[in-house]
Amino acid sequence: MTFADLGLSPELLKAVEDAGYTEPTPIQAEAIPAVLMMKDLIGIAQTGTGKTASFVLPMIDVMASGRRRALMPRSLILEPTRELAAQVAENFEKYGANHDLKMALLIGGVQMGDQLKTLNEGVDVLIATPGRLMDLFERGKILLNGCELLVIDEADRMLDMGFIPDIEFICSKLPETRQTMLFSATMPPPIAKLAKQFLNNPKRIEVSRAASTNENITAFKVPVKSRQKRDTLKWLLGNDQVETAIIFANRKTTVRELNKQLQRDGFRSGEIHGDMDQGSRIKELDRFKAGEVNILVASDVAARGLDIKGVSHVFNYDTPWHPDDYVHRIGRTGRAGASGRAFTFVADEDAEAIANVEKLTGSEIKTYGKEDVRVELAKAGADAGGSTDAVREDEPEKPKRSRGKKAGVDSEQPSDEKPARKPRREREASSDTKPARNSRSRRRDEDDEPVPAGEWNGPKPGFLDVGFG
Ligand code: AMP
Repeated sequence: MTFADLGLSPELLKAVEDAGYTEPTPIQAEAIPAVLMMKDLIGIAQTGTGKTASFVLPMIDVMASGRRRALMPRSLILEPTRELAAQVAENFEKYGANHDLKMALLIGGVQMGDQLKTLNEGVDVLIATPGRLMDLFERGKILLNGCELLVIDEADRMLDMGFIPDIEFICSKLPETRQTMLFSATMPPPIAKLAKQFLNNPKRIEVSRAASTNENITAFKVPVKSRQKRDTLKWLLGNDQVETAIIFANRKTTVRELNKQLQRDGFRSGEIHGDMDQGSRIKELDRFKAGEVNILVASDVAARGLDIKGVSHVFNYDTPWHPDDYVHRIGRTGRAGASGRAFTFVADEDAEAIANVEKLTGSEIKTYGKEDVRVELAKAGADAGGSTDAVREDEPEKPKRSRGKKAGVDSEQPSDEKPARKPRREREASSDTKPARNSRSRRRDEDDEPVPAGEWNGPKPGFLDVGFG
């Protein structure tokens, strides 16, 4: 199956090729032809499945003909958070590069003047969060009766955030004859009801029930005592071949404190949480995307919908209170074909939350254990104490290889910043070329089989006793 088989225009095929995609993801293969045939659609899909392109791409072709009118957007995409809205807008710009379509982004937390000016000039696609849209609508600054296509994205999240009444109101102001698409990672009853009310004979596409069934993500729970969480995290950051990680915590104060602590411990980390203004959040995100920091400590709302390719790890420092958040959090890794690892710390106070997560995903999350430990063998002996410094100690000081905007694009530019640990690819390559034994490595008996990378063969840190059975 290729994108050309799906009926997209040559201009879009070119944009898709420029984006570097060779094959449609399953949701794209199913959704694109249906949207082009003007059908309504329910997409049950989590982030990381390529769902954004599954509606943005065909929308561009659907909207390609027609006239723009002042204050009357021709199509509307509703997103629960500003970050997610901004990200969909980025997608539009990327895929719509060869089309003459006008887009406006209507989100809270930024000046309204420019947004209004664009609306006045007429837009083909309006991407909005419900709050800001309602605000403008109530002030008569926008008319919705010219809007023939509606996308409700991340509907379950909209539900969590209390946006359903707003969405019902917005739907009631749109023309009855229109095309509607609804995407959601899960389908709780209020969302099913919304779909029944506002969609017309929709095609239903389900690509994966829950994140736990995403085979690209290896997920573990790590039983810990609350006071061991920090050390356990540090140990995993130092030993699980972490390239880039998002660490989620339930409270903003935890986010702030944890980031400070990680920085004190020499990690390159940043933070993003709801108390930061929009500008600071975007700045911090950009630093992460550019590879200036490789660890981002985040709260749920702030991190919603982050699209960062190649995040190798997600850590749930706390088990999320809302099980849906688990699906969204671990969906940050294992995106579009890349594999990832997700660790959820479970202390006594997380017991109920983890039970809810397992109920939602319909399976028990594997407990992290001996056979799952991924360390560099040459470092295993040196790192017996769980000190992350031991991992770094014997590595030559190298200029930092920062990640480019896209994962895998490594820049060799020297940096002023302090040197970071080598990315996994580099470290793996070096362990292939030289034997694992060096002067610092653990002594092994002559008849020891070489231990494949990824298997634990060294002393076991204390916290791992749990789950070793
Ligand atoms: P989404 O599920 O929309 O959040 O997309 C996840 C990631 O997959 C984004 O970074 C997209 O750029 C990327 N992506 C979308 N479609 C494809 C594709 N057909 N091939 C490879 N990557 C894709």
